[in-house]
Amino acid sequence: MAARDIFAEDFRTTPWWWDGFDPPEDPPVELPKDADVLIVGGGYAGVQCALTLAEGGRSPLVLDAERLGWGASSRNGGQVTGGVNVGKIPSGGNAIEGGRREAVLRDSAAGMRHLLATIERHQIQCGWHATGRFTALWTPKHRAGWESRIDDLNRLTGADARMVDREEMREEIGSDYYAGGVVIGHAGHLHPAQLYGGLLAAARRAGALAHGGVRVTAIARSPGGWRVETSRGAIQAGAVVIATNGYTGKLAGGLHRRIIPVTTHMIATEAMPAELARSIMPKNRAVSETRRVVNHYRLSPDGTRLLFGGRARFFPTGERVTAAILHKLMVQRFPQLADLRIANSWGGKVAVPFDYLPHIGEHEGIHYALGCNGSGVVMMNWLGHGIARKILEKPDGPINAFDGGPMPTHPLYHGTPWFLPVVGTYYQGRDWLDRRLASLPAS
Ligand SMILES: Cc1cc2nc3c(=O)[nH]c(=O)nc-3n(C[C@H](O)[C@H](O)[C@H](O)COP(=O)(O)OP(=O)(O)OC[C@H]3O[C@@H](n4cnc5c(N)ncnc54)[C@H](O)[C@@H]3O)c2cc1C
Repeated sequence: MAARDIFAEDFRTTPWWWDGFDPPEDPPVELPKDADVLIVGGGYAGVQCALTLAEGGRSPLVLDAERLGWGASSRNGGQVTGGVNVGKIPSGGNAIEGGRREAVLRDSAAGMRHLLATIERHQIQCGWHATGRFTALWTPKHRAGWESRIDDLNRLTGADARMVDREEMREEIGSDYYAGGVVIGHAGHLHPAQLYGGLLAAARRAGALAHGGVRVTAIARSPGGWRVETSRGAIQAGAVVIATNGYTGKLAGGLHRRIIPVTTHMIATEAMPAELARSIMPKNRAVSETRRVVNHYRLSPDGTRLLFGGRARFFPTGERVTAAILHKLMVQRFPQLADLRIANSWGGKVAVPFDYLPHIGEHEGIHYALGCNGSGVVMMNWLGHGIARKILEKPDGPINAFDGGPMPTHPLYHGTPWFLPVVGTYYQGRDWLDRRLASLPAS
């Protein structure tokens, strides 16, 4: 097929999810001069923080530089797990061990319970499918690592995980590409933008104010709190929360030096016949790979399209180029989809901390919830909720397992990830080599 033929006639460079919830264009209303708690960033973390604060009797104000929900929260793959990815490092090992790891895993599972309870409580229609996840083994060597983790995962998170060998794999996925996998029973997928829309509506119903199109440009201490400069004037705030994740700029002290923004990409195919969709994803699982530069995919909530994601490029590039790369990766896994064209291609930014762990805390008096490490549907909601609880309850100790530890940085890092192309290309090379050494087709 010629390269140009992979694009549908109505190909778009916006997230396919925006057909289900389009981040709203707010009319430019007059902003309040004072805010009880001002939240910078209106994604999952920001609106979840606002929802908990408003339900706790406070008066939060959420500001987003773009349209509300425009960030990663309406662009992601919608895969939901409670702790499966938390603290994983690209080589496949764990960022932390021992008691801390146990606490982090237990707390991640609590995050998933909290998200599902929030969806239920506010009756958010977001296509939640509790159909589990298939973690696909990139090479046979990855099996041992997973076998050694699985008991902990089941004991600490209730993941309901089990190994699947290559022979059984066809029951999970219509592909022979992998060396088997791991089924995570307690997992699934949802419509990420509709989830966002439901959370925003719930926060507003509870009394929170939220405005898009307002960029926060500076934050400085002032008597009684903080003076927050915005693109639409100054606001006096009692407390400030930074919830800007992969879009964090030079706002609050050195926070931008503590996370690495990484752009990651997705495509949505055009609709396919129901029989073809069933044959590639017979159990409608969410799928993610164990390689260093992860690919992930799932069917759309109506079961007609494949939504396929990954870090297509580590250099800035256009949506048609990243679409062609992801289409090629998709066809390597599913040759039967070679004629399926791409309807949408888009990218978004995630935040990778130097210790690969999500964080909440206080930096020079300003609260923050940052560092999803690429898995933020559960986690950023949980961190936003955690920050709100800290403000409401003022506990003496940490509010959860992600609270309090300092976010590390590196003396040579000032917020521009100049090393990403080199590191990313190295990881891609290692993935390729691992497959070659296992005598499997490399990509
Ligand atoms: C392509 C892709 C696929 C993904 N797939 C998955 C997945 O399947 N499962 C999963 O769990 N996670 C996934 N993620 C990660 C997940 O989407 C994010 O972790 C999560 O949405 C982050 O939420 P957030 O609220 O912290 O940040 P965001 O939703 O990114 O919101 C941050 C907001 O801050 C705003 N902002 C920045 N600076 C300012 C300022 N100065 N003033 C005002 N506003 C500002 C931005 O405009 C932005 O809207 C994926 C991410 C991407 C990009």
